[in-house]
Amino acid sequence: MNVATQNLLGKSRGELEQHFVTMGEPKFRARQLMRWLYGRGVFQPDEMTDLSLALRARLAGEANFALPEIRDRHDAADGVVKWQLAAGGSQSIETVFIPETRRGTLCISSQVGCALDCSFCATGRQGFNRNLSAAEIVGQVALANRELTAAGQPTVTNVVFMGMGEPLANFRNVVEAISVLTDDLGYGLSRRRVTVSTSGLVPQIYRLAADTRVALAVSLHAPDNELRNELVPINRRHPIEELLPACWDYVERTNTRDATFEYVMLDGVNDSLARARQLARLLRHKPAKVNLIPFNPFTASGYRRSPAAAVDAFRDVLMQAGIMTITRKTRGDDIAAACGQLAGRVDNRVRNPLGGRIQGDQTQGA
Ligand code: SAH
Ligand code: SF4
Repeated sequence: MNVATQNLLGKSRGELEQHFVTMGEPKFRARQLMRWLYGRGVFQPDEMTDLSLALRARLAGEANFALPEIRDRHDAADGVVKWQLAAGGSQSIETVFIPETRRGTLCISSQVGCALDCSFCATGRQGFNRNLSAAEIVGQVALANRELTAAGQPTVTNVVFMGMGEPLANFRNVVEAISVLTDDLGYGLSRRRVTVSTSGLVPQIYRLAADTRVALAVSLHAPDNELRNELVPINRRHPIEELLPACWDYVERTNTRDATFEYVMLDGVNDSLARARQLARLLRHKPAKVNLIPFNPFTASGYRRSPAAAVDAFRDVLMQAGIMTITRKTRGDDIAAACGQLAGRVDNRVRNPLGGRIQGDQTQGA
């Protein structure tokens, strides 16, 4: 591969059409190319037999369709697979495949690290290096499908932006990648099968409704600003009273059923029944459901997972208030592939992105 060429993987149909027009080719070449890339998993121009030999040679010379390079692979006892993928220099990002009976969910990364510094998240601890390109985002799906197909396993049916990074902080590339995931000529995933999880970037939630209609998950983790400021520091900029209206607006404008609120259960921190009642008051009679996530520990996190009984009691309060609540099953934790455990390798370029560490929390390692 010529590294100087442009990677066309992850380009939306419109952008590809434009690309071909610029090359002096008809627009419909974009359709042909997308069928090869996403329909058939063919990434070598010389195998794209419905394109002329001349065009194949030109594409091979001027463009590339490189998938991320696998650095390492880990297989968990429960069938979860984690790939560590090269992200420039010695850095890596992580992608996790979670097989279930009737579906296979791929948890993908959107950034090399994350600048938002949530206190309970291994990715946040690593700091931030850069955004992933649309090619690197879609490339994670292409790569997982290639590896799963080669092993004779069912491929990806659902994609969640719950790996490393804050997807809405890499807005343009994430939206472009979503267009490929949901395009009939791309991966053809219905909008319900693609979920963007955000820590609560309010302006981008409003913008997202103009560009996509995918499922929205919001990392709430606390029902009041005082605690949320501590756990999810971006709350200082976009507090709960601004975040929730943005979610209701998204649901209404995209005509989705509801927004999912993620709530990591931290022993003795946010898991009391009083918090559950407070949360119920916020979400009652709203298009909301709740995912309780048992905290997944990592080295020196300083937090403990809530006991199962506390999680159940918390869930019961929400359910009694009529709020659909499920407890997320922990998968892949024996290979550090569970929610919030993804760390990869990140050369941090951002420290104290929000102007100072949150109180009462450990500072990041060097
Ligand atoms: N940056 C986005 C998406 C990635 S994190 C976001 O914050 O929403 C995906 C989910 O895992 C989020 O809800 C996040 O809060 C949660 N999470 C982070 N660290 C965790 C941990 N150690 N245990 C359990 N869940 C965690
Ligand atoms: Fe970033 Fe999400 Fe982790 Fe917060 S929870 S540090 S936003 S990846």
